[in-house]
Amino acid sequence: MVVGDVVDPAEIESRLLVAADHTCRLVEDFAAERELISINWYDCRTPSLALARSRLWSRVAAAMSSCIALVVAAGRGTRLGIALPKQYLPVAGKPLLRHSLEALMAHPAVARVRVVYNPDDAADYARASTGLDLLPPVAGGAARQDSVRLGLESLSALAPELVLIHDGARPFVDAGTIDRVLAALDAAPAAVPAMKLADTVKRADGGRVIETVDRAQLWRAQTPQGFRYGDILAAHRAAQGMDLPDDAAVAERAGLAVRMVAGSEDNIKVTTAEDLARAERLAAARLGDVRTGLGFDVHAFGPGDHVWLCGIKVVHGRGLVGHSDADCGLHALTDAILGALGAGDIGVHFPPSDPQWRGAPSHRFLRHAAELVAQAGGLIAHVDVTLICESPKIGPHRAAMVARIAEILGLDPKRVSIKATTTERLGFTGRGEGIAAQAVATLRLPL
Ligand code: MG
Repeated sequence: MVVGDVVDPAEIESRLLVAADHTCRLVEDFAAERELISINWYDCRTPSLALARSRLWSRVAAAMSSCIALVVAAGRGTRLGIALPKQYLPVAGKPLLRHSLEALMAHPAVARVRVVYNPDDAADYARASTGLDLLPPVAGGAARQDSVRLGLESLSALAPELVLIHDGARPFVDAGTIDRVLAALDAAPAAVPAMKLADTVKRADGGRVIETVDRAQLWRAQTPQGFRYGDILAAHRAAQGMDLPDDAAVAERAGLAVRMVAGSEDNIKVTTAEDLARAERLAAARLGDVRTGLGFDVHAFGPGDHVWLCGIKVVHGRGLVGHSDADCGLHALTDAILGALGAGDIGVHFPPSDPQWRGAPSHRFLRHAAELVAQAGGLIAHVDVTLICESPKIGPHRAAMVARIAEILGLDPKRVSIKATTTERLGFTGRGEGIAAQAVATLRLPL
């Protein structure tokens, strides 16, 4: 885009917002980076343009800041005996990988997160990462060590100061563990969270004990393992083709001092069916704060040839009047989720007085509410919307509405319900003056 040729601030604003939604690509693409610089020279006279620019810059600054997490999820996980790779298996309604991603993204010191995946899993990856603001995934290699090296190479344009390397199948990494790893990197080039062995350790051969091993110096290493980016990239390049068990071993081989910090008993790696059952128990125990929120919204009919309802454009003899796209189904649902979070209402987050929301598609409001749930470490267990109108008929659109809401919220469609009713020609909906919507959202939040 050549900004100098564009004279319409609205067009620049719309392009800026598109750019802000693709920061990761923007930062990696030097041509786009030059575009950003040229935007910076443009005199931002309209407040919304200035806001769009500042949002873009803040995201770019975050992307360029010092710590990026690399999540390794390219393995096939064949030990579970299930066709789906283990990192995509659901735990508490979410893929294992998504738990890991949300935990890392929620940490304020982690600027960006990138997944190393197997492109054969692209559809599973897309489902697991819906709505998360991640760097685009990169393809891994034949073995874990190759995957990590390829992931590290892919970050060279971003050149972070620090990198955290985490197993995609460790869903319950906590902020304290990340804090300890990062703090150790102040004084050491590498840091590993680890747990002391509690059980007595035996060396055995064919089921026969050969000796009892002194466990005083033995630890179980976990992830995320933290490194100075340049050091671990060089170490991985030098160790290419070896089959070292973890990235700390790669660092050790390169002569880097690896500092050990306390891990967490809950930071389990899911490898077996037994681990998966344990992960399910842990997830359920962590999300024991069950909340319900209620939403209600009304929009009046006005001129037009279609209405937006639950994210679907429905051809109709009239339109709905409103500041945004007037989708009362999504507005009620957004309020229900915000209500369960105790986070105010849709007007607090998207003031009708703000011109940037004029004509806005309401899926942006709903996605924002879902992001707040994710930021709180919670999940949406179920949503139920009731549309109240004499017309249009909802039945023919119900399946599309369920699919669309599931897509926006990143939920299994089984967790989305759409119902419709009339008011028997009574009241404003009965007289065909408008459409009302009610919604209930059930959330599970960390205790
Ligand atoms: Mg509304």
